[in-house]
Amino acid sequence: MSIFTDMYRRLRAAQPEPVPTLEPEPEPTIRLVGFIEMHVAHTCNLTCESCSHYSNHVHKGVLDPAQAEDWMRAWSKRIVLKEFNLLGGEPTMNPRLSEFVVLVRKHWPTAHIRIITNGFFLHRHPALPSILADDGNASIALSLHHRDPEYLERLRPVFELLEGWQRDHGTVVETRHSDRRWTRRYLGFGAEMLPFEDGQTRKSWEICPAKHCKQLHDGKLWKCSPLAYLGLQKEKYDLSPKWDPYLQYKPLESTCSQRELDEFLLREDEDACSMCSAEVRSFSLPNPLRSRPATETPVALP
Ligand code: SF4
Ligand code: SF4
Repeated sequence: MSIFTDMYRRLRAAQPEPVPTLEPEPEPTIRLVGFIEMHVAHTCNLTCESCSHYSNHVHKGVLDPAQAEDWMRAWSKRIVLKEFNLLGGEPTMNPRLSEFVVLVRKHWPTAHIRIITNGFFLHRHPALPSILADDGNASIALSLHHRDPEYLERLRPVFELLEGWQRDHGTVVETRHSDRRWTRRYLGFGAEMLPFEDGQTRKSWEICPAKHCKQLHDGKLWKCSPLAYLGLQKEKYDLSPKWDPYLQYKPLESTCSQRELDEFLLREDEDACSMCSAEVRSFSLPNPLRSRPATETPVALP
């Protein structure tokens, strides 16, 4: 071996390890999400038994548009939506309902905006049909919760109002017979409310009608309404400790990593799904105009 070759080898061996350059964090990729939902009011004028949003438990509170805009601003940097549902509770019980349409449009220019309502207080929002018409990509879903003649008669003014909005403003209205596929989401009511204990999380998720209904609540994304609003139940009632594991559920923060966001969006069944029934427990929904528990104040309807 020549002296030069030997020297070359020794110099190569003495070379310091290359210092890894610090790559800047890649910009987060905006993910496409089918739809999310947001309570603009926790309160509701009806009392549908086993409501998956717990709104039959007479929660109070309406969402402030300024607070909602903070949440939307943060999340619109992370997700783009095909659809945004404004609901509750009963969204028309928020006197500022129309403002939320404008806010959603500001942050998600292409999303379809759907207001899901039982209809009874739509008359409190005379500006709404013009705002929906100006938006051009928004609609109302009228959710029917009973077929009893008394219930339908109370809805008659709502149908007349919506006919007028369709005629004069081109409002797009879809009617949903929500009571036809009603299932039990938990056992009991109030402090006596209990989770199911079927122990088959995959089956519970597979039959779950809420499995794609992600909620924007408290600035975070939640898997579904029963998890998002369980905290409201805990604040109001001395719930059984059987709910404690589900109250530990961690929603997704808007500051999450890209990986956390992707995992959240792809996640199907998880431990929390064990609080839900693993079989379809259908029942005939009692008239929600009359089923409010005796301890609560009567329903005020027009
Ligand atoms: S109308 Fe019935 S299902 Fe809808 S939020 Fe009110 S109580 Fe729940
Ligand atoms: S916890 Fe799971 S099964 Fe229960 S409502 Fe949410 S997504 Fe559905």
